[in-house]
Amino acid sequence: MRYLILSDIHSNLEAFEKCVNTARGHYDEVLCLGDLVGYGPDPNAVIEAVRELASLTIRGNHDKACAGLTDAEDFNPLARAGTLWTREQLTPANLAWLQKLPSGPCEVSGIELVHGSPRDEDEYLVESYDTAPAFEEATSAVVFFGHTHLQGGFVSTPGGSSQPIHCYGVENGCTLKLHIEQGLRYLVNPGSVGQPRDRDWRAAFAIFDSDQRLVEYYRVAYNLSATQEKMRKAGLPEPLITRLQFGR
Ligand code: ZN
Repeated sequence: MRYLILSDIHSNLEAFEKCVNTARGHYDEVLCLGDLVGYGPDPNAVIEAVRELASLTIRGNHDKACAGLTDAEDFNPLARAGTLWTREQLTPANLAWLQKLPSGPCEVSGIELVHGSPRDEDEYLVESYDTAPAFEEATSAVVFFGHTHLQGGFVSTPGGSSQPIHCYGVENGCTLKLHIEQGLRYLVNPGSVGQPRDRDWRAAFAIFDSDQRLVEYYRVAYNLSATQEKMRKAGLPEPLITRLQFGR
């Protein structure tokens, strides 16, 4: 089975469509690691597209906040502005769907899906030294996570320490093929579809082939200026618009 794994779409329809179109024909099922909304200009269109496409979607912290399950008080002012704007846009049906999204971890044929980490859906796994509790809590050898908007992840070495997984690629397409080795454990971050923060503005996703035990990481350029134009028209804060082009 080949899974297209999408995370942190953040209401960016152009980035989402580019990822799905690039991956077309290379996957059997779509899994979504949360944060469909928040920041970007197309919350309803993104929710409707993911509802249609994904066989499993778990919630992220922005989904919770935009659905009114949490307040946005611990968000920075820009993220809060995006949340409040999104709440006003959501149709009743999409709001209701967002409110019912399951929290991670969820298990799909031997892999584990979380938004932040296996022990806490809101935890950020940024550095290797942060990852020991997450590896301890993980119930499968391969965990897919998002939340940090950083493509890559971590592999635990036989000695018990953890190493970062680095993806490089100037060309659009596959940035890394990662073979899942017997005896090692992995935390895999496909990167953010709609708001990357690893200084590469291009949309990120991953495809996991469970038979070949292979993760392919991808980066693809999308119509960024169209997204930014929609954000300006919507009156979203300018720093949210400019950060997209810097991948920050
Ligand atoms: Zn996010």
